[in-house]
Amino acid sequence: MSPVVSPHIALRFRVPIALEDNLQGFMLMQMPLEGIEEADGETCYYVKETEWTPAREQALGLFLTSTPAIRFLGAESIEDRDWSAEWRESVQPERATPQLVITPAWHKAAALAMGAKYLIEIDPKMSFGTGHHETTRLCLRALETIECAGKTVLDLGTGTGVLAIYALMRGATSAIGVDTDRWSIENAEENRGLNDFSPEQLDIRAGTLQDAVGDAEVFDIILANIHRHVLLELAKDIRAHVRPGGFIILSGLLSYDAVEVRAAYERAGFDFLARSEENEWDCLTFQFPIS
Ligand code: SAH
Repeated sequence: MSPVVSPHIALRFRVPIALEDNLQGFMLMQMPLEGIEEADGETCYYVKETEWTPAREQALGLFLTSTPAIRFLGAESIEDRDWSAEWRESVQPERATPQLVITPAWHKAAALAMGAKYLIEIDPKMSFGTGHHETTRLCLRALETIECAGKTVLDLGTGTGVLAIYALMRGATSAIGVDTDRWSIENAEENRGLNDFSPEQLDIRAGTLQDAVGDAEVFDIILANIHRHVLLELAKDIRAHVRPGGFIILSGLLSYDAVEVRAAYERAGFDFLARSEENEWDCLTFQFPIS
């Protein structure tokens, strides 16, 4: 993919705090904004050069006359700003666990230099699961507490596929990733390829647990990093798909929801094993009794 390069105009201002909303309101109403940046006490608004018309320049002039406390520092042409390169640079490799680094392809060399035991390549697009969110990292760390070798895995709400991919790297024999979002399905398939797993090893399916997973399919490990209300609804269905002795790892929970979710899964017959947290997020691990 070639980077999108388009000439832009940077409109730079020094704004008293009390007038920040006025300026922002004006800019949002009058200008087709491409970006806003605040640094060193300056606010910078970006518009495409083609959109910086005399009428808009005049409107800005009038606005500034009516609010003299806002200092306009000038309109500067930025000929060769490569927005997509800047975005790519901003997505850095993430040490998701002490053993695992997650990286976009373009930072692979830097990621390798971080010297982790495992490296997952994720093409960051619109799907959740790049390792930059607490809940993903909590699930990945919880997975490290469970033996994956020889196990079968279901990753419910797979997003980028990252949790299923890590389970496979840690020795799981096969995994199924399920998601209701079609962008996630596409992205998980791409990421499966990037990490050299086959569709037999990682089966990506569109839908919910009920419509994408057969009644007779059971798993040694189920991962579900989904919203609290989905987890609460699914307790019984998840139980129906776990082998005796199998594990489930749940996240997507805010800490104050953990008690409620734990109780729901204990009622469904699971033994609570562990809880971990990062910032306001929680992750719960359970085991289904052998008998
Ligand atoms: N597993 C990844 C992504 C978690 S985000 C990680 O841990 O980072 C949650 C994902 O669940 C989203 O991709 C969303 O599309 C999906 N999702 C939400 N509700 C769902 C449901 N009922 N069944 C399956 N997937 C669902």
